[in-house]
Amino acid sequence: MQLVFATHNAHKLAEVKQLVPAHIELLSLTDIGCTDEIEETGTTLEENAMIKAKYVYDNYGYSCFADDSGLEIDAINGEPGVYSARYAGPERDNEANIRKVWEQLKDKPSTAAQFRTVIAVCMNKKEWLCEGKVRGHMLFEKRGSLGFGYDPIFVPEGYSQTFAELGNEVKNKISHRAIATQEFLASLSPM
Ligand code: IMP
Repeated sequence: MQLVFATHNAHKLAEVKQLVPAHIELLSLTDIGCTDEIEETGTTLEENAMIKAKYVYDNYGYSCFADDSGLEIDAINGEPGVYSARYAGPERDNEANIRKVWEQLKDKPSTAAQFRTVIAVCMNKKEWLCEGKVRGHMLFEKRGSLGFGYDPIFVPEGYSQTFAELGNEVKNKISHRAIATQEFLASLSPM
């Protein structure tokens, strides 16, 4: 069975490739000759993930899945959420995003937060969503040099180190993306 992962991110593709069973041939957007920039115009993670999966399914005819992730901070109504990559502006400046989180959070009583991933799937004339979450809290300092994005200021529940200190070995077991990917693969197993 061929299945497209609607991403241009080679790192994400390699990560998922290790997890899919042998009878599934995982293809990237490049593999199917899709160089289109699929516009993420949705206002939720669910919408954006589904926009990408549907685009490939409708225009290229491949079974497809796509993901969208974000940081959701309880005290600021789930911000930055779907806007995590461009919280401080369209430049997608990670340092500025972190400073904006600190600014928004500075007078709030709680630093509780979660990372959430949604995976949208389109295949066999059906569409469905899978989800993964990891709860934790935000720090007002950066700790660690591994990972990306908000990793240096996020401490997952049950740990005292940030994602940027814990690194990929731990993160790949407990992260929002790992949990959503497991749920997605389990949803395929009857096929
Ligand atoms: P994407 O949908 O995986 O591209 O994630 C969108 C944005 O959410 C990223 O650019 C990061 O700012 C943030 N984000 C998502 N997952 C993570 C993570 O595992 N660590 C840190 N930041 C993340």
